[in-house]
Amino acid sequence: MDDALDLAGIGIGPFNLSLAAVSTKNHALKTHFFDEKPEFQWHSEIMFPDSDMQTAFLKDLVTGVDPTNPYSFLNYLVQNGLFHAFMNTNRQVVTRKEFELYCQWVTRQMPERLSFNFNVDTLGYDGRYFIIGNSAQQFKAKSICIGTGINPRIPACAEPHISETCFHAKSAFLKHTDMRDKNVVIVGGGQTGVEIFRNVMKEKWGFAKSVTLVSSRPNLEPLDESAFVNEYFSPNYAKAFFTIDARLKKRIVDYQKLTSDGNTPSYLQNLYNELYYVQNVDQSPVKFRILPYRKLEGVSNFNNRYQLCFSNCFTLKHERLSADIVILCTGFRNGVPSFIEAISHLIQFDEDGCFRVNQDFSVQWDGHAQNKIFVQNFSRYEHGIFEPQTSLMAWRSAVITNSVSENAIYQTENFAPNFLSYAFVE
Ligand SMILES: Cc1cc2nc3c(=O)[nH]c(=O)nc-3n(C[C@H](O)[C@H](O)[C@H](O)COP(=O)(O)OP(=O)(O)OC[C@H]3O[C@@H](n4cnc5c(N)ncnc54)[C@H](O)[C@@H]3O)c2cc1C
Repeated sequence: MDDALDLAGIGIGPFNLSLAAVSTKNHALKTHFFDEKPEFQWHSEIMFPDSDMQTAFLKDLVTGVDPTNPYSFLNYLVQNGLFHAFMNTNRQVVTRKEFELYCQWVTRQMPERLSFNFNVDTLGYDGRYFIIGNSAQQFKAKSICIGTGINPRIPACAEPHISETCFHAKSAFLKHTDMRDKNVVIVGGGQTGVEIFRNVMKEKWGFAKSVTLVSSRPNLEPLDESAFVNEYFSPNYAKAFFTIDARLKKRIVDYQKLTSDGNTPSYLQNLYNELYYVQNVDQSPVKFRILPYRKLEGVSNFNNRYQLCFSNCFTLKHERLSADIVILCTGFRNGVPSFIEAISHLIQFDEDGCFRVNQDFSVQWDGHAQNKIFVQNFSRYEHGIFEPQTSLMAWRSAVITNSVSENAIYQTENFAPNFLSYAFVE
């Protein structure tokens, strides 16, 4: 079957786009990537003008393994006449909007490798090839890479109330919400929660009556991006972490949470200063409140008003809040995509229903060894805290490229030692 692909990618988020770009170094490799959206979009529902990346711009799709690759952020700047102006901004991180523009530019450079408006809903395996596609079109591929991303996590008690006045932040409802004269409650104090809180303050959705942010965390916790901690996001640490006892991994990753899911410190500072101005200088009639250390326990609705019940972990009491609009910034979860159903009996899952993932990001399965199912953004607890982040995406793409090429196209092993050494070597 000569027209079969060597690698088909399902989903074109940053991770599979990175793989598409990095894998071009092996000219012999036939790859193609599919996405159901009409064009590359990056969590556009929750992208605001003040939304910045949490990772440095050099950690782009390719530079970490190949700064000569034409799909680098620096080349995007140069090709678009932005290099000199960008350097004057002195930025280490770019806005999420500019990162999206960069990725969209990359997609326009390799149209022959990417198909948008292509929903993958079937995946079969005939013993030699995967057959992926939908009722309109199918493709054969020797290996596949699933990069279908994350889904909103909605607390069970809120699930029955999902509507245009009670919704997860990453939904179409946010764009059209009207907060004029409404009591708004934001549940969740991670970066999405604080960004929505700040944008409500800026009256993005109208002049609200009150805005309350409730967080289960003890405070609006900052991202820990200090130098030694950042070694978690290095190939050396990733390699060491992969080999440790599986029983330790979850505890370690959960302990490292704020190195990945904390709030951008400069954002918190700006928010604090603006709150100070709005409440103490401008004396706004809008009531702004931040209620940390509360867990959402129940949601009910009477006459189009929500009653939210929280347990307060500080006073150990129960509290109630009423709201006209509830925005759930309650994070995301990985979901094994339903299209794998036809071959799921061949795939090995752990006790939580997640893929069991090998060091080269292929899953453990009973198909032929030459056919691999790679996954990206599915193994935080297997590979480590870097896995859902962009920091090492170029490196991971290089590891997958080597594996699918059965050749060391990239050097992915030898790096200067980290300063923190977890296994003692005399
Ligand atoms: C708001 C937000 C901001 C973030 N900011 C940062 C940051 O600054 N730095 C950082 O390191 N990380 C950040 N992250 C974490 C991480 O980098 C992102 O979640 C990133 O988008 C993950 O990329 P992905 O390719 O796995 O998935 P996604 O970006 O979610 O892309 C998945 C793609 O798969 C497509 N798809 C799904 N199912 C199918 C199907 N059946 N057929 C065809 N296509 C399909 C979807 O349309 C989508 O385009 C952020 C996450 C969020 C939510």
